[in-house]
Amino acid sequence: MPYDIAIVGGGPAGLSAAVNARARNKSVLVVSNDYRESPLYRAKQVDNYLGMPGQSGAALLDAYYRHAEETGATFRGGRVLNIMALDGTCYLGIGSEMEEARAVILCTGVSQGKKFPGEAEFLGRGVSYCATCDGMLYRDRPVAVVGLAPDAPEEANFLQGLGCQVTYVSGKRPEALDPAIPWVRAGRLEITGEAAVTALRVNGEDIPADCVFLLRHAVPPTDLLPGLALEGGYVAVDREMKTNLPGVFAAGDCTGLPLQLSKAVGEGLIAGQRAAEYVDQLCDSEVINSITCEKGE
Ligand SMILES: Cc1cc2nc3c(=O)[nH]c(=O)nc-3n(C[C@H](O)[C@H](O)[C@H](O)COP(=O)(O)OP(=O)(O)OC[C@H]3O[C@@H](n4cnc5c(N)ncnc54)[C@H](O)[C@@H]3O)c2cc1C
Repeated sequence: MPYDIAIVGGGPAGLSAAVNARARNKSVLVVSNDYRESPLYRAKQVDNYLGMPGQSGAALLDAYYRHAEETGATFRGGRVLNIMALDGTCYLGIGSEMEEARAVILCTGVSQGKKFPGEAEFLGRGVSYCATCDGMLYRDRPVAVVGLAPDAPEEANFLQGLGCQVTYVSGKRPEALDPAIPWVRAGRLEITGEAAVTALRVNGEDIPADCVFLLRHAVPPTDLLPGLALEGGYVAVDREMKTNLPGVFAAGDCTGLPLQLSKAVGEGLIAGQRAAEYVDQLCDSEVINSITCEKGE
């Protein structure tokens, strides 16, 4: 049975959307990296949040998370790597697993960092964002892991365990990395090859690799959902937080300026309520009659 609403990202926008969709008695799944990875967690003091000046970002996020949890939202750790919307159901790829929902709310914040040279060109031909999905394809072969997320060392260890010959590339030597895996300090990175990837170039030196795993915190929204419209580099939404794709809503920093907490929380509320309405309409419509549709829980 699909969830009514899946929320991608557990920052202020996602947690606000979860609380407000639960208030409409919808089943809600929040898929996110640890909520402490929201940039807000690093804010020592937030002075412009109405009625609550002087709180730390960490205290606010802890409170938001507790609130969303108490409403009965389901939480699942992990990174959503792709979403497919088809006939009233949205399929979310999380590593090698899948979740289903009637509607999706993107609350992914702003994705930092540009693509590396060669990344777009070789995607699917030796560039991967998911060790657990693609690792088996590279058993007994050289691979490079570019560690840009906190859980990247564990994923590199997983690849090594599968039998891949892993080289790990990152800004700092990670503590959790298997000592058998060679570590290379990241510099200027480029992915090279011909028909498929043959190497990761680091500061002009080639590390032979049949696959380069780029393990980041977040995936740009347009990579998550092909066909998603942007405006000025942010997800384009109307006043109801609807995107151009049916059943797909967005809220918070990913929809644009100002990149501020109150806007994220407010947009999360609208997206949660509108997504709940969308699910009600879907369940009343003929489109969905062929699919089991229970309202609420
Ligand atoms: C140091 C600092 C201080 C700040 N101070 C203030 C302030 O004083 N006042 C103010 O109003 N604002 C402040 N901000 C801005 C505020 O933090 C943001 O506006 C707010 O966090 C945006 O919330 P959000 O939910 O849209 O995104 P985020 O908080 O970025 O949350 C997005 C979450 O989604 C996760 N995620 C992304 N993609 C995926 C995926 N594919 N799968 C799973 N999870 C995913 C991310 O890891 C993250 O946890 C500050 C920001 C920083 C960095």
